[in-house]
Amino acid sequence: LPQTIPHAAEAAARQWPDAPVVIEGDLTLSFAELWDLSRAAASSLIARGAKAGDRIAIWAPNRHEWIIAAIATMTIGAAVVTLNTRLKGREAGDILRRTKARILFTVSDFLGIDYRALLAEENLPDLSETILMDVGFPDFLAYGKGSGDVAVDAALTIINADTISDILFTSGTTGSPKGVMMTHGRVLPQCAVWIGNTGLGFGERYLIANPFFHSFGMKVGWVACLLSGAVAVPMAQFEVHEAINLIERLKISFLPGPPTIFQMLLSERDKKPFDTSSLRGGTTGAATVPPILVERIRNELGIRDIITAYGMTECVNITGCRPGDPVDLIAQTCGAAIPGNEVIIADEAGIEVPRGATGEILVRGQGVMLGYLDDPDATDEAIDADGWLHTGDVGTMDTNGYVRITDRKKDLYISGGFNVYPAEVEKLLSAHPAVAMVAVVGVPDDRMGEVGKAYVVLRPGTSTTEATLVAWSRENMANYKVPRSFVFVEDLPRNASGKVLKTELRSI
Ligand code: ATP
Ligand code: MG
Repeated sequence: LPQTIPHAAEAAARQWPDAPVVIEGDLTLSFAELWDLSRAAASSLIARGAKAGDRIAIWAPNRHEWIIAAIATMTIGAAVVTLNTRLKGREAGDILRRTKARILFTVSDFLGIDYRALLAEENLPDLSETILMDVGFPDFLAYGKGSGDVAVDAALTIINADTISDILFTSGTTGSPKGVMMTHGRVLPQCAVWIGNTGLGFGERYLIANPFFHSFGMKVGWVACLLSGAVAVPMAQFEVHEAINLIERLKISFLPGPPTIFQMLLSERDKKPFDTSSLRGGTTGAATVPPILVERIRNELGIRDIITAYGMTECVNITGCRPGDPVDLIAQTCGAAIPGNEVIIADEAGIEVPRGATGEILVRGQGVMLGYLDDPDATDEAIDADGWLHTGDVGTMDTNGYVRITDRKKDLYISGGFNVYPAEVEKLLSAHPAVAMVAVVGVPDDRMGEVGKAYVVLRPGTSTTEATLVAWSRENMANYKVPRSFVFVEDLPRNASGKVLKTELRSI
C-alpha cells in the first residue's frame, strides 16, 4: 500500500498511465494526466509560498479540479480543509479562521452562488489567496512551471503515513460541525479494506454523487479510485434525472450513496423504468437503512452486490458487510468490524455489554482520527484512555460480530418512561407499503413527557391517512413507540450527507 495519497496517485499513473480516472462531461482524464496536473498544481502552490504544515481549503462541488487541488495540497505536505458547499459566508468564514487556511480553492459560480461574494464581509487574516477552479485554473497550473519538478520531488520525499492529510468537518447533525484531523496512514488502509469489501475494480465506473468534502465522497470516493483503478464520474449535485442519464450513457457500474439517493432512483423507476443493466455494486449507509430498501436496490435497480456499511468522519470505516453475506444480514445490519478495527458495544461506564444488548458503539484501531482540531477536551471526551472512540451511536452486536445501529445517543426521546429510538420506529414504519421515507422526532407532551411525531413522504401513486397509519402502527409496534401524529410532507429536509435535519423538521 502506498504511504500517502499523492504516492497512490503516482503509483496509479505508473501502473495504468493511459486508463481513464475521471470522466466529467466531455472531459476524460487518464491517470498519467491526473498526476501531471497534480504535480503542476503542487509546483504552483510551492511557487506561491505554500509549504508543509499549511492548511489549504477547498470550497467547491465535485469536479476534477477538486481532486487535482487536493492531491497537490497533500503533495506539498499541507492539509486539505474541506467546506460543505451549502455553508453560508459566516459558517465558511468561521472554518477558514479556525483552520487558519492560507489558500482557498473555490468556484466563481455554483448554482448561482459566488462563494467569494459570500466571504466578502468575513475577516480572514490568514487567507492570502483565493484560486478559482472554474475559471483561470490553467493560469494557476502554469504558474511556477519550470523550476517546479525538483521542488515537487523533494516534497514527495518528506510526506509519509504520519503526515496530516486532511481536516474534514462532521456533518453537524447533532451540533456544530467538528474539525477532524486525519493522517494518510489512517485513511489508506481503511480505503483498501473498503475496496476489498465492495469489489471495486479496475475500469469500473463509479458515480460519485457523495460530496468530495465528506469522507464518503473523498476517502471511499475518488481516493478509492486511485487505489483500485476505477473511474470517477463526479456529480456536482445529486439530481435524479441527471443521475439516470449518467447511468445509462456512461454505463455506471458502481453506485454508492446514502439511502435517500436510492429512494429517489426507485421512486423515479416506479414512474418510468430506465436501463439499469450496467449497475453491479454499491454501498449504502451514512444514515438509517430501511431493510426493505436493500431488497429493492437488488431486485429493482439490479445492484446485486449492494452492501451496507457504517462509518463516520472520525473513523472512515467502522463496520461493513462482506461479499457473499446473506441478504437479510446486509439489510438488517451494517456489517462487522472491518480488519484493523475492533468494535464493541458498551454501557455508560465503557464496559462491554453481552451480545444482543443495546449500548454505545465503540471503535478502536488504525482508522480512528488523530483528534479534533484545536479541541483537546473534545478529543479526550471522544477517545478514552484505552483508545476507544465513543461514536455516540447506539446499537447491538450479534454473536458473529454484526452490528445493528439502532439510534444516536442524542436522538433518543422518552415517552411515558420508555426510551424510544426514532430510528427503530422509522425502520418499522418504512415497512408500510405507502411509506417511501419517514422521520420521527420526539415532541413535548403533557401526559407522556414526550411523544413521537412522524413526517411521512408517500410512495408515488399511493395514498393513506393519519388514522390508517396510527392503526397500522398499533398492530406493528409497542404502544409507547406509536407516533401520536403523522404529517405528510413532499420531502424531508436533509444535510449534504443525506441525513435528515431533525431540528428543521420540528418547525414544520
Ligand atoms: P455530527 O457529528 O456533527 O453531529 P454526523 O455524525 O452526522 O454529524 P458524520 O461524521 O458525517 O457526521 O456522520 C457519521 C454518522 O452517520 C455516524 O455516527 C452515524 O450516526 C451515521 N451513520 C453512518 N453510517 C450509518 C449507517 N449505516 N446506519 C445508520 N447511521 C449511520
Ligand atoms: Mg458525529
